[in-house]
Amino acid sequence: MVTKKKSTRVKGTKSRAAAASRANPRTGQSATHKEPGLMKRLATGAVVCAEGYVFELERRGYLQAGAFVPTVLLEHPEVVEQLHMDFVHAGSDVTQALTYYVHREKLRMIGREKDLGAMNHIALKIAKKVARKTQTLFAGDICNTNIYDPNESKALKQVARIFEEQVGWAADAGVDYIVAETFSWGQEALMALDAIKKHSKVPAVVTFSIHRELVTREGWTAAETCRRLEAAGADVVGLNCHRGPRTMLPLLKEIRAAVKCDVAALPVPYRTTEEQPSFMSLTDPCCSDRRAFPVGLDPFVVTRQEIFDFGREAYAMGIKYLGVCCGAGPQHIRALAESLGRRPEGSKYSVDMSKHAFFGTDQKIKTVQTEYRSRL
Ligand SMILES: [Zn+2]
Repeated sequence: MVTKKKSTRVKGTKSRAAAASRANPRTGQSATHKEPGLMKRLATGAVVCAEGYVFELERRGYLQAGAFVPTVLLEHPEVVEQLHMDFVHAGSDVTQALTYYVHREKLRMIGREKDLGAMNHIALKIAKKVARKTQTLFAGDICNTNIYDPNESKALKQVARIFEEQVGWAADAGVDYIVAETFSWGQEALMALDAIKKHSKVPAVVTFSIHRELVTREGWTAAETCRRLEAAGADVVGLNCHRGPRTMLPLLKEIRAAVKCDVAALPVPYRTTEEQPSFMSLTDPCCSDRRAFPVGLDPFVVTRQEIFDFGREAYAMGIKYLGVCCGAGPQHIRALAESLGRRPEGSKYSVDMSKHAFFGTDQKIKTVQTEYRSRL
């Protein structure tokens, strides 16, 4: 699908193409994809990655909050494809396969273990189709297993199996790189990285989450965890999910100073505070201080401007892998892309109030309207 007409953008990417063909030893297929890879793109600027698909699919009415397993892959694959397209239209450089929570343990939880292979294959197929059509990067995805327990060797074996099989499917599908995300344990993140390094030859982006406490569940700081991940061979390290821009930024500053490799930042688009620094800790004063997570978070959603400001600040700090996690809509991704000075296709529809019926500045707007502004 991606042919020679891309020649102006593939200049000097011979080694990447060769690396890509080495990336799929399991299939024996030679890579035809000649887009600059993730690391090359990061070397010259930012990469925007839309995440948080399960929340957006829940909001659209195709996924159940709670277990958060995307059975939509089997029931409405066209909805998943459209969501990928929406995020690319809004400025995402990446189409990440919706394999988040499509692992053995999650499917066992909902009694659908038999669908494991089919769901992973469909997710990878849809993402690859969109990625190649839109010339975005095609990313695989593995995540928190929820069974990791440092004191239980049986659980550790199951975790390793989950990572191995999902990385294998992603590598077979020919992903450009693999994201490992949303870990609460630094050690589980290291296990995920180990699987990517053992069972694929593509770059690894490893991000984890910091909840209320400023450490991972084994007590490592964010900076220390990133140092360990970098030392273990991760190409990009950082944070995703759980914290909003305001409570993630101070940690990102420490991480940026602690590692040499590229840093990733994908906050949730919610107004987290010092007292309630994670989206799971937010309580809503309008509703008897009830926990807002997961379906009462609407009043805490950040504005486009707040994401724009976050993008500016993070990029100025030297953080180049940027995205938004659970709760992200296309409007956030567009604002993030625009904060980097970009004009994605969707920017054609970015706000322009000059022709607004009351607030506009256009000559054609009557004074009978503009004079009424203060009474609106
Ligand atoms: Zn998330």
